[in-house]
Amino acid sequence: MTATDPHPSPHPTPRPAPRPGSTRIGRETFFLPGPTEVRPAVLAAMTRPMIGHRSAAFRALFARLQDGLRTVFGTQRPVFIASSSATGLMEAAIRNAPAGPVLALVNGGFSERFARIAAACGRRVDRYDVPWGSVHDPAIVTTRIRDGGHTTVTVVHSETSTGVLTDVRAIADAAHAAGAVCCVDSVSGIRGAELRFDAWGLDFVLTGSQKALALPPGLAFAVASDAFVGRGASENRGVYFDLAEFATAAARDEAPNTPALPLYFALDVQLEAVLAEGLEQAWARHAAMAARTAAWVDELRREGIALAILAPAGHRSPTVTAVVLPPAVSAKAVVDAVAARGFTIGTGYGRLADTTIRIGHMGDHTVGGLADCLAACRSALIEVAKPG
Ligand SMILES: *Cc1c(COP(=O)(O)O)cnc(C)c1O
Repeated sequence: MTATDPHPSPHPTPRPAPRPGSTRIGRETFFLPGPTEVRPAVLAAMTRPMIGHRSAAFRALFARLQDGLRTVFGTQRPVFIASSSATGLMEAAIRNAPAGPVLALVNGGFSERFARIAAACGRRVDRYDVPWGSVHDPAIVTTRIRDGGHTTVTVVHSETSTGVLTDVRAIADAAHAAGAVCCVDSVSGIRGAELRFDAWGLDFVLTGSQKALALPPGLAFAVASDAFVGRGASENRGVYFDLAEFATAAARDEAPNTPALPLYFALDVQLEAVLAEGLEQAWARHAAMAARTAAWVDELRREGIALAILAPAGHRSPTVTAVVLPPAVSAKAVVDAVAARGFTIGTGYGRLADTTIRIGHMGDHTVGGLADCLAACRSALIEVAKPG
C-alpha cells in the first residue's frame, strides 16, 4: 500500500498483518448483514493449490469438514455442502419436499423469496402473512395446515430483512402436529442463534457461508432428516439440488460434482476457529452484540434522535438489527455518511430499503469492534438527522 494508492480501499487503515491461523479479525469495518467480514487467515486459505475432488486427500478434507459442520448444526446426520449461494438450497428444500401444497410463512423479504421459489417450482402455495417485523402464531400454523392439506411449511429463522428471530422449534412442532414437514432457512441464524437439528427434531435446515459462519459467499449447507429425504417428491427434483445425489456422494465423503475447492479450504480453516470458540459461546457473543446495538438505539433516543428497533423485544435476531430511521432521514444518506467514516452497514431490504438501516453483527465480529462501528453510526446520524 502506497500513499498514492489509485484504488483507495473503503477500509481507512491497513489491517495489522495477522498471525498465521490467527482467530483475531483485526480492525473490524464491514458490518453488512451478509456477506460479513472474513478473517485474513480464512481468505489466505483460498490460495492453496487445487486437489483432485475424487482423491484421498479430498475425502479426508470432506470428512474433517463433516465433523465440524455436524457440531454447527447440532446433528449426527451428514451435512450436505452445495457449491451455490444459499438460495440454491432454498430451491432444494422445495424440490425435495414431499409432494403437495406448501404453506409459506411470510414476515419479510427472505421468507417471501421462499414462497416465490415454491410457486416457481410448480407448488400450490398458500401464504400465512404477518406484517414485516412480526412473528407467526404456531397454533394458527397447525390450523392452516389442517384446513389446507399442506405437506410442507417454509419458515425463516432469522429474517435478515427485518431482524426478527422466529422460534423455529415451535413452528416445526406446529407443522408436525398437523402432519407436515418444516423447511427452515437459517441463513443468518446458524452459529449466531441457537439451533439444534437433532434435539429439536427438525426436518430440513439450510444456511449459507457468508453470514454468521464468516466465510466468503459461495457455499451453502443443509441437513435433512431421513423422513424428509424418504418422503421426498419423486418428480421434479432435478439433478443439481437432488438431496439423494448429495446423500450418495456424502456416504463416500465426496461432493456430487466438482466442489468450489477454494471455499472448502477456507471452511477448513474457519471451522477450526468456530469449534475452538464453541457454539454456545458464539450464541452468547451474538446475543451480546444484539444487546449492545439495542442499548445504542436507546442512547441515541435519549440524545433526541428518534430511532427504533423494528423487531419487538423478545423476537430479535442476535445477528442483525433493522433500525427504523426518523421520518425524512434516508437510509442511503446514513449508509453513505457511515461509509465516509470507514464502516460499511446495510440499507434496508425490499420495501424497507429507505426507511431502515441494517447492522449485521454476525460472524467473527466482537462487541468491541461493533462499538466502534456504532460510534461511527452515531456521528453519521447526527450529521444526517440533525436539522440545520
Ligand atoms: C442472505 C440470505 C439468503 C440468501 O442467501 P444467498 O446466499 O444470497 O442466496 C436467504 N435467506 C436469508 C434469511 C438470508 O439472510
